[in-house]
Amino acid sequence: MSGLRGLLLRRVAVEGPLSVAAFMETALGHPEFGYYATRDPFGGGGDFTTAPEISQIFGELIGAWCGDVWNRMGRPGRFVLAEFGPGRGTLMADLLRALHVLPGFGQAASLHLVETSPHLRGIQAGALTPYAPVWHDSIDTLPEGPLIAIGNEFLDALPIRQFVMTAQGWRERRIGIGAEGGLAFVLGEGRPSRERIAPADSILEECPAAAGIAARLGRRVAAAGGAVLLIDYGYFPSGFGDTFQAVRRHRPAGVLEEPGEADLTAHVDFAAVAEAASGAGAKVWGPVPQGEFLARLGLGLRMATLLRKADSNQQENILSGCRRLIDPAEMGTLFKVLAIADPALPEPAGFSSGAS
Ligand code: SAH
Repeated sequence: MSGLRGLLLRRVAVEGPLSVAAFMETALGHPEFGYYATRDPFGGGGDFTTAPEISQIFGELIGAWCGDVWNRMGRPGRFVLAEFGPGRGTLMADLLRALHVLPGFGQAASLHLVETSPHLRGIQAGALTPYAPVWHDSIDTLPEGPLIAIGNEFLDALPIRQFVMTAQGWRERRIGIGAEGGLAFVLGEGRPSRERIAPADSILEECPAAAGIAARLGRRVAAAGGAVLLIDYGYFPSGFGDTFQAVRRHRPAGVLEEPGEADLTAHVDFAAVAEAASGAGAKVWGPVPQGEFLARLGLGLRMATLLRKADSNQQENILSGCRRLIDPAEMGTLFKVLAIADPALPEPAGFSSGAS
């Protein structure tokens, strides 16, 4: 039995059935046994692969987006450049390398990383040594001032709550102890923050952490300037359905099977994120599909440049990487891009065919 399973079973015995959020938070973030606390989950040898690990073009184009936002902000002489959940630091390294060509950007930026995993902080430090990043446990301790921030596959790791429509109305889907003594789903007390009419057995998900972060970021960019780019898999508009999922070694796994050993995520409710940010005074752009966004930022041109300098082996990698990022059957449509921006800022690049 994994250390975490025993710990969760004891916790249920004491506290009663846990919310999906409490389970997710512990399985991912427990300081000793949590999934992110103990490993580097990325790449072929790990559990899953993310866009920046697939192609350097991803980070370079996000870099171009950040440089463009900085220009549209009037090139502030000091600003906070932040990344939420930077993984291996690959996206930020590609972004900053691409922005060497933009005079003044590097000098004006102070780099801040929001990351809870000590293990991944170590890997990020190795990737980003020349830029002297400062780490934070949450967005709340970022220094004041104008902000340009990015987060790729950050929101999907935040804990969700699930509710089920029963004959008695909404009940919370919780994790208790099943007939065989293992962890099992049960129904318990708890109602969604906004009750919606739904057919029997519908599952409704809420991510209070994502909504809270979107509201705080919205308030901040509206007051101090800047924009935040969030990229993730998710849905728009809001809907019903169970999107809680576990992935281990690039395959789906049971969500309750081996807590701490599999990555747990949920699809992002982009409408809820947008509503929280605009309710806090920010202007929200998108969400738009990742494939369209990257194409508008110039993926084709950048790909052509790289292909010219590559040998045939590298050419194949470049082409297959770009295909994965933009193909609607792969990451092109399921992944979406949303910006939370200062309302005074003109439309950022990538959100409509007019502005690129
Ligand atoms: N952006 C990276 C990694 C995505 S995986 C990439 O695209 O490759 C999710 C990342 O978010 C990991 O770095 C993980 O440690 C971090 N993370 C998860 N929950 C977090 C939280 N609550 N606060 C800050 N970072 C978190």
